[in-house]
Amino acid sequence: MTGASSGIGAATARALAAEGYEVICAARRDDRLAALADEIGGLPQRCDVTSLDDVRRLAETVGDSLDVLVNNAGQAFGADEVAVGRADDWRRSYDVNVIGTLNATRELLPALVASGDGVLINMGSTAGRIAYEGGGAYTAAKHAVAVMTETLRLELLGQPVRITELAPGMVATEEFGLHRFRGDQAKRDAVYAGVREPLTAADVASAVAWVATRPPHVNVDLLVIRPRAQASQTKVFRED
Ligand code: NDP
Repeated sequence: MTGASSGIGAATARALAAEGYEVICAARRDDRLAALADEIGGLPQRCDVTSLDDVRRLAETVGDSLDVLVNNAGQAFGADEVAVGRADDWRRSYDVNVIGTLNATRELLPALVASGDGVLINMGSTAGRIAYEGGGAYTAAKHAVAVMTETLRLELLGQPVRITELAPGMVATEEFGLHRFRGDQAKRDAVYAGVREPLTAADVASAVAWVATRPPHVNVDLLVIRPRAQASQTKVFRED
């Protein structure tokens, strides 16, 4: 489980532990991981998914067999329009969302296959399905995650591993929007203004757990999940 130190990742680690999995909680902030792992009886593992050394260490901890890999580590950097896009935002976005997912997939795939029924779940986004103004670096990276997931499913056909993209819409996690808006709390809060019930991290976590616990012959290719108040990326019902 990558990106386990907050938001959707932490909730998913809890949900998978409740299903009986021993969860290896990976992210960069090891103080948070230690507390989470203690709570759910899992294992904390400091791992920056953009670092090959870190990901190889994670693979060593995992060992020969892995039932489920959730590539959840991801972030949005800035909300600039493409015309004024900052190369650094685009690089960082690509690095964590795409290269990070690639690194963990490549290094952990042998263990997933060796389990005899591995499940690989990539955390995409509705931002990976449609373009929107100001989505810039993030939408581009999540589109890459979507294509990577589809390609993997084609390439791994016949092997005992299932490949899923989970694409949530509006999820009210604490840190995600803050990163996107460079720490501007008001801008982060405006995203959810008047939306009665955005998805919670726990909603997405239960979807991940559902995907992971389907019978071995059932591959959920793509699961798009949004709050009832969100009909599309740009059409959101807001109350006064
Ligand atoms: P958070 O910011 O709460 O979580 C992001 C997680 O990724 C953190 O645990 C962070 O931990 C980890 N992370 C970031 N960079 C790295 C890295 N280089 N190596 C390892 N871990 C890293 O956001 P959410 O929980 O909201 O988002 C989780 C995933 O869901 C992301 O992939 C996001 O794109 C996706 N998503 C979110 C939506 C939303 O509306 N919130 C909607 C759709 C998809 P640490 O800093 O400790 O490394």
